[in-house]
Amino acid sequence: MFQKNFFDFNFDSLKHFLIKDLKIEEKKVSMRSKQIWQSIYKKGSFEIKNLSTLPLDLRSKLKDLISLKRPQIKKTQTSNDGTIKWLIKLFDGNEVECVYIPEQTRATLCISSQVGCTLNCRFCHTGTQRLVKNLSFAEIVNQVMIAKEKLNDWSDQKKITNIVLMGMGEPFYNFDNVKIAIEILKDKEGLNYGSKKITVSTAGIANKIPEAAKEIGTYLAISLHAPSDDIRELIMPINKKFKIKNLIKQCKYYSSIVKEKITLEYVMLRGVNDNVKCAKQLVKLMAQFPCKVNLIEFNPWPGVQYLPTKREDMEKFGNIIQKAGYVATIRRSRGQDIFGACGQLRTESSKK
Ligand code: SAH
Repeated sequence: MFQKNFFDFNFDSLKHFLIKDLKIEEKKVSMRSKQIWQSIYKKGSFEIKNLSTLPLDLRSKLKDLISLKRPQIKKTQTSNDGTIKWLIKLFDGNEVECVYIPEQTRATLCISSQVGCTLNCRFCHTGTQRLVKNLSFAEIVNQVMIAKEKLNDWSDQKKITNIVLMGMGEPFYNFDNVKIAIEILKDKEGLNYGSKKITVSTAGIANKIPEAAKEIGTYLAISLHAPSDDIRELIMPINKKFKIKNLIKQCKYYSSIVKEKITLEYVMLRGVNDNVKCAKQLVKLMAQFPCKVNLIEFNPWPGVQYLPTKREDMEKFGNIIQKAGYVATIRRSRGQDIFGACGQLRTESSKK
């Protein structure tokens, strides 16, 4: 018998399925859907027979109709700083990476939205892998499920406290799947991550920002990386399409709706975007909407033409911004030794 995969349902389509294929009475369908949803997403039950809140006859019918199969981990690498990178093999054979980054008071899971990427940012390793495909919402959510399973993260006190869409790919070029995945991540009856526990990072697909403000509503991070179009264009070809002025306009709108500061990510490339003039230009830009800047250590990869900015120059750059009254933090690189740091993810998958 043809089985559907549970993770291809959102809550509404699960209800619909229970009515149509399982002939569950309308008045019970919300309760049954909730029971299934909670057992799987909240408690991590991965066998139908263990969905103990459901009557036995329903479990036996469900067993024939739906599967709880998940993509498998193909490789695990653990950094000496505790960061873990999982290479996940999807059902179609493509591979994608996700990274767990534990810190003292929190732990972040960095997940991917695409296999490969179209953007080709010059400093990013994923950019050397052509786009293979958009991940489905199930493939996005399952990165979280797989990590939770590995870490046995099913108690109320979450081990994975934050989720960032900063892995492979551009989330706003896979908007619909990202949107549904985030709805599932946020669902109180399931994974229950609040809007303020999730960050979506975009290279600046400006025309999608208003939609994200209304329909996604999480923290937003913009990979800015340069304060002027001429420098940005050299390192991020996407800037030819969406200029900084346009980005600023949409960021203003986003922060007016979501009412949170936007994080500007700024990877520091020696001799490219790290001088005093850049810092001063960045300050002017930051005056235009509520934001803070995250200065990111550049993570090298084989064949890349850039060098990281020296630590003292990063601090000098950060001080200029702080003195102007804005928040600037320096993000310590994590997981570099396993190629799990920002911009180092890349898999061998290629388009057939
Ligand atoms: N496409 C999205 C999300 C993926 S990249 C985006 O561009 O935001 C996640 C972050 O890592 C981005 O800020 C990206 O610019 C940054 N990054 C890419 N390559 C890097 C590298 N080699 N070192 C440090 N950060 C890098």
